[in-house]
Amino acid sequence: MAIMKFAPEALKNLFSKPVTTSYPAKPAEYPERSRGHIDIVIDECISCGMCVRVCPSSALSVDREKGTWTINRYDCIVCGFCAEKCPKKCLSVNPGYQTPGGEKMEAVYTKSPEVLAAEAAKRKEAAEKAAAAAKAKAEAAAKAKAEAEAQAAGATPVAEAAKTE
Ligand code: SF4
Ligand code: SF4
Repeated sequence: MAIMKFAPEALKNLFSKPVTTSYPAKPAEYPERSRGHIDIVIDECISCGMCVRVCPSSALSVDREKGTWTINRYDCIVCGFCAEKCPKKCLSVNPGYQTPGGEKMEAVYTKSPEVLAAEAAKRKEAAEKAAAAAKAKAEAAAKAKAEAEAQAAGATPVAEAAKTE
């Protein structure tokens, strides 16, 4: 009479919705706080490299000149450390896993042309300021040296005269 034990369960399942989903036809639903993958709002990234330094699996790289942020999702263990340490809070851990693939592909995110142009202009301005400051410093040093030499040259005859007296 073991069948009688399963009858209620069998009847219940007969008239209820299936517990399985029709993935991949229907997209999977992930728990809200599941650690699926890292996302970036690339235009807010300042290419500081903090995420690269703290990543325990060396899954990240940043190219400041090209304005790119690259992640190897096969190396990422979704620890969330990069998102925690990012000073701009432009990284986040979100539900949803990467699409399976046969190759270890890197995902490259590039800043928009407007942001890249603004950053290049800022770098140019900073370089010009630094060059002007260095030039002013060198000129001041040269002037001080010339003054010291002139002073020494003016003092020498007096000193020599004092010696001969
Ligand atoms: S989640 Fe962890 S392993 Fe993945 S990129 Fe960020 S720091 Fe690296
Ligand atoms: S820590 Fe944040 S701001 Fe800095 S490089 Fe990484 S993503 Fe960009």
